[in-house]
Amino acid sequence: MSNKNDSEAPLIRIRRRDTAAVAGLGSMVLVLFWMFGELGLLETVVAITTIAALSTFYYLTVRTALNPLPDPASHRGQDSGASGSSANAQLMLESLPIPVLLVGSGGRIEIANPAAREFLGLGPVTGHLSSVLRQPQVLEAVSAALRGHAVEPVEYSMMAPVESHVRAFVAPVAAPEDPALPWRAMLVLSDETSIKRADRMRADFLANASHELRTPLASLAGFIETLRGHAKDDPDARDRFLAIMFDQTERMQRLINDLLSLSRVEMDEHVPPSGTADMAAIIDDVVDVLRPQIAEKSIRLEVNAEPAVAVGERDQLLEVVMNLVENAIKYSESGSTVTLQLCTGLTRDQAERPGLVLGDAASRLTLAGPSSEAGDRFLAVRVRDAGKGIERGNLPRLSERFYRVDGQKSGPKEGTGLGLAIVKHIVNRHRGGFTVESLPGTGSVFSVFLPVARHVSKASELPGG
Ligand code: ADP
Repeated sequence: MSNKNDSEAPLIRIRRRDTAAVAGLGSMVLVLFWMFGELGLLETVVAITTIAALSTFYYLTVRTALNPLPDPASHRGQDSGASGSSANAQLMLESLPIPVLLVGSGGRIEIANPAAREFLGLGPVTGHLSSVLRQPQVLEAVSAALRGHAVEPVEYSMMAPVESHVRAFVAPVAAPEDPALPWRAMLVLSDETSIKRADRMRADFLANASHELRTPLASLAGFIETLRGHAKDDPDARDRFLAIMFDQTERMQRLINDLLSLSRVEMDEHVPPSGTADMAAIIDDVVDVLRPQIAEKSIRLEVNAEPAVAVGERDQLLEVVMNLVENAIKYSESGSTVTLQLCTGLTRDQAERPGLVLGDAASRLTLAGPSSEAGDRFLAVRVRDAGKGIERGNLPRLSERFYRVDGQKSGPKEGTGLGLAIVKHIVNRHRGGFTVESLPGTGSVFSVFLPVARHVSKASELPGG
């Protein structure tokens, strides 16, 4: 207090001196006028009042300039520079998307930014950290920081209400103004759930891919061993084993092709296609390629396709239709019917609505939704089979890599579990949608819808249409 008064004293003296000088000068001029009889009584009163008012105004102006009013936003109102920077720091803290907390005496939360409030579910009154974060390692780190010790980051995981993985950074912050507790603890919580999930997915993918390859490889090694041993001189066994070995190598080939295809599609998923693809021609090509399998299972194939051109890459869209029709054949009983429909000029609502309806009891799921910038007209390719169908609980996992429904028989060629994942990624790249509808015992409908190429959005505009 005494310091402040000492520093202010000379300023006050200057102010008084200047005010006295202004008032004195004004009064001298007044006296001169009065002596020469230039002023009447009324003019004298007006002049004195004016000089007094001017002097007071000068005094107040100088005082305000030297000692501005305290900033109402500042807590202490002593130093405008300090309060300004603390307000900026406060603003920065508030807008940080990462949870940041300042913990004080006894582990009480002194400051929590909005991200921290949301992350920890804090109410308007913040209590002790231990009541909202029951992580002994983090609490230990905080109490070490409150004693001024530097601490290593701490990782913790929670499985409920949702799985989350967090890395907590704790640091001591000096608070010299409080001799009783000279340290606070700053706690920054970094949510690493998505990084952990991506790591796990990568590890799972590698484990799955090597497992899928290891099985046929192990069987190949076993048969080679047998052929070199007791089956060496048995032509019947040799032919049988060679046929199985051929199937296994084919399976490995399929797996590697699908893996390469998936990684290619994933690599350019963020680059939208710029070309156009004649979907009716693609359907014709797919039917031609699959004719041997259709004949082998005596499938009755019904194709109902109107001319339609999509914005997209022909090879990728051919892979989409191929995977869906191949699945319909694979997962159908011999002699059953597979229906293929292509229609165009649909609004997004129409495209999303089931076209080849299975009935009210069927379950329906969107495996990929069209993006908002996809345009306003769509074409839809729908593939319906009369196979075993898929239970509702299995629908969400269908487009996961390597997922195969238990007990689902696909004939002699075992599937890779990658086909629908490839379809989903290609559809995503094409800003389209992908839905599945299924009713166990009745069959399934897989539908893909894609933005229509604008210059041929009406069937009549197609060459020969
Ligand atoms: P796969 O190579 O195993 O066919 P997909 O990714 O194409 O791999 O399909 C994943 C799983 O979804 C299949 O293993 C099968 O269990 C199920 N599935 C796919 N299409 C059909 C269908 N039309 N009918 C019944 N189940 C299907």
